[in-house]
Amino acid sequence: MARITLDHIRHAYGANPVSESDYALREVDHEWNDGGAYALLGPSGCGKTTLLNIISGLLQPSHGRILFDGRDVTELSTQARNIAQVFQFPVVYDTMTVYDNLAFPLRNRHVPEAEVDRRVREMLEIIDLSGMAKRKAQRLTADQKQKISLGRGLVRNDVNAILFDEPLTVIDPHMKWVLRSQLKRLHKQFGFTMVYVTHDQTEALTFADKVVVMYEGQIVQIGTPAELFEKPRHTFVGYFIGSPGMNVMPARISGNRVSIGSESIELDNAPRIGGDERIELGIRPEFIRFAREGLKVKINRIEDIGRRKIVRAEFEGRPIAIVASEDVEIPAEPRIVFDPARINVYADSWRVGEEA
Ligand code: ADP
Ligand code: MG
Repeated sequence: MARITLDHIRHAYGANPVSESDYALREVDHEWNDGGAYALLGPSGCGKTTLLNIISGLLQPSHGRILFDGRDVTELSTQARNIAQVFQFPVVYDTMTVYDNLAFPLRNRHVPEAEVDRRVREMLEIIDLSGMAKRKAQRLTADQKQKISLGRGLVRNDVNAILFDEPLTVIDPHMKWVLRSQLKRLHKQFGFTMVYVTHDQTEALTFADKVVVMYEGQIVQIGTPAELFEKPRHTFVGYFIGSPGMNVMPARISGNRVSIGSESIELDNAPRIGGDERIELGIRPEFIRFAREGLKVKINRIEDIGRRKIVRAEFEGRPIAIVASEDVEIPAEPRIVFDPARINVYADSWRVGEEA
């Protein structure tokens, strides 16, 4: 397994990139630990596949270097980098049996046949295809084929890293959950460095120790699920993680006081910014509560979601979401307070303040 260093990586698909928007990857400069389980999370088109293909060697970056354990592999092929990659859609050898598909990467590396047999059988169990070992892959359904692709990625235990690019897209929801748990278990057991691309926050947050959030060709935050929830470094992380996402409202700050429209509040730990600056204030719906004294809101709608309810309201002419437990009474003239410890302050979309 390997520690992966992304050294000032930039990538443009076009020949003569001029502006930042010509880059599919703007600047990625990070180090990913050996044996970590990383999820690359972001909306469609933000550069996840581009970054993954640069790590695997399918794509050469326009700028920057990739290092595995400190060794420059930028010029090396996928095979020389010793990486297993599982794609969004199945890649299997149709004319081979399920068994031979799984055995292929091992036989290719001259693993003794007894060992091949042991590992293939174990993998067949994991992907739940033991009963189909002798079938030709051709006749299988798309999700069975995708399980073979996953199995082929996981069957080797000598890889530097395993990369997954939205691998569960074609898998049915129940099996998705099962396979994700299996991946997590295999990660614990073998300690592979795993990078798992998804646009689904639940998938990312349940799979990974560290979630890498991408937005418009940049990594905007790498953090544990709790860090992403509590201290989103960028307003995009606030919107994208959480359901509903963080409330972000334009405000002005002056010393400890923040004004939002005609209302104002005092901050506990105000970041030191010059006088009367335009900022954005971020507060998650979970950290707003109804109170006798507080900011006036107008309620538009209440959605019951089991033991909690989402209150959709209007505050200073803008929508705001509040999450309350089901037994909370919504007053006739509702007022709210923000938990002061949970307020985040943003300037130009980036969080400001201690260890921002
Ligand atoms: P994601 O996997 O997050 O959906 P991609 O890495 O596939 O995003 O794409 C990032 C950006 O690069 C998008 O704007 C996409 O249109 C562009 N792009 C991806 N592949 C190519 C390509 N082969 N040629 C030109 N542009 C591409
Ligand atoms: Mg993609």
